[in-house]
Amino acid sequence: MTKDDILKVKQLLQTPKQIVIVPHKNPDGDAIGSTLGLYHYLIKNNHKATVIAPNDYPEFLKWMPGEADILKYDSQREKSDDFILKADLIFTLDFNSLHRIGDMEAPLTSSKALKIMIDHHQQPGDYATYMYSDVSMSSTCEMVFNFIDMLGDKNQIDEDIASCLYAGIVTDTGSFRFPSTTTKTHQVVGELIEKGASHSDIHNQIFDNSSYERMQLLGRALSNLKVLPEYRTAFITLSQDELNQFNYRKGDTEGFVNYALSLKNIIFAAIFIEDSQNNIIKISLRSKGNFSVNEFSRAHFEGGGHTNAAGGKSDLDLKSTVENFISILPSYKNALNNE
Ligand code: 5GP
Ligand code: MN
Repeated sequence: MTKDDILKVKQLLQTPKQIVIVPHKNPDGDAIGSTLGLYHYLIKNNHKATVIAPNDYPEFLKWMPGEADILKYDSQREKSDDFILKADLIFTLDFNSLHRIGDMEAPLTSSKALKIMIDHHQQPGDYATYMYSDVSMSSTCEMVFNFIDMLGDKNQIDEDIASCLYAGIVTDTGSFRFPSTTTKTHQVVGELIEKGASHSDIHNQIFDNSSYERMQLLGRALSNLKVLPEYRTAFITLSQDELNQFNYRKGDTEGFVNYALSLKNIIFAAIFIEDSQNNIIKISLRSKGNFSVNEFSRAHFEGGGHTNAAGGKSDLDLKSTVENFISILPSYKNALNNE
């Protein structure tokens, strides 16, 4: 976003607007944290803002201030379409392409509202009027902090905004351990704590909120873990039957893939999760170093994301998806062993 763009956006926000804020489908901590952080800021400035998520999100995000006001497009379509139709401005946060919002793609594409993208994913699409896209950023939440700062309104960041933004930074940085975490990230986080984000409480809400069944499901996931040392790769599978057996709730498998990546000498990890309702296998990919799971997912699993964290899907069954994955690995043997 150029200085000129910032001036124009600042000008736009001088008078009250009808604003819709949209995160990606299956929103994560960064998607919900950034949309709600921005929501509180816009409300404070006399705009009429509504967050519309394509679908529901895990329980461990449902403590965030303002969360109860979020509309879910899949179950509140009529109301949501009305807000989209009336919007002067639409912010799209934490995604790079309108394909990432499922059924909301059509109403957003046909909407005449001015669009502002704030996002840190690779290969951003060009649907937005104003784009703040930076793939080097730890999280969209860090970018929302910068956005508010660029508008000259850092002093407006209060406890609600700070708590939401902190939540997204802590989740997207893997609790500040991914390489995308910079000194600036830590400075931003320091400021958020000063503004009232209670880091310890937030950590508890997000990470220490598991059900007993989730822990049992993790046990199953770990016993399904397979290692392919020659490719420095490890992967986990979970079938729909296994999910049902442990009374799976949305978000229960969050972070499981990282256990595969925590193995010594492993730099590439995957989890394959059967989703019978949508008839797909949802895939999460993680890596260390320069091995790009974004490229890997784009090439083989209709997905994308970041260099070290990406997602995708497969239309084959679970067994065939895993066989396909294993059959692809030889062509990456050098890349995986040169890391
Ligand atoms: P996760 O594996 O945690 O679902 O996602 C990891 C990263 O990849 C996130 O930044 C997420 O937004 C992105 N991602 C997840 N699934 C997809 C997908 O199907 N397509 C694309 N383009 N990105 C995805
Ligand atoms: Mn993000």
